[in-house]
Amino acid sequence: MDEHRDITLAKKHIYRMTPQRKVILEEVRKMNNHPSADEIYEAVRKKLPRISLGTVYRNLEILSEQGEIQKLELTDSVNRYDWDTRKHYHIRCVRCGRVDNAPIAPMQQLENELYGATVFTILGHRLEFIGLCPECSKKLSCLKNNPPDK
Ligand SMILES: [Zn+2]
Ligand SMILES: [Zn+2]
Repeated sequence: MDEHRDITLAKKHIYRMTPQRKVILEEVRKMNNHPSADEIYEAVRKKLPRISLGTVYRNLEILSEQGEIQKLELTDSVNRYDWDTRKHYHIRCVRCGRVDNAPIAPMQQLENELYGATVFTILGHRLEFIGLCPECSKKLSCLKNNPPDK
């Protein structure tokens, strides 16, 4: 099947919720850790053993186009998905890839400042924080044999 054509059609027609897609959506909503497609696939497979990774991918694309979930395009190349479709920022561990929500309010002012200052029509902005998660911070300080409070 032509995947690109499939997605183009999605814009023209309202997709009806298939039972498969419903299961995928339910699994994403259960996962609070910004799962990758692979992680969602593993969870969905427990309910639908015969589903393929490609089908999961395609349905995730449709769900994010429909605004049911949010696709996160973070720097670490793996696409992650978020049940929370509200505008919010993320913080990513540079060592293990864990993604948490960054608890600060979106900065609408940034976008407002750009209006008129560029020939572009501003659609939005992305801001990604990077750091080390608690587990990785601990592991690194063990590796270096360097206690955090010297
Ligand atoms: Zn980490
Ligand atoms: Zn999030």
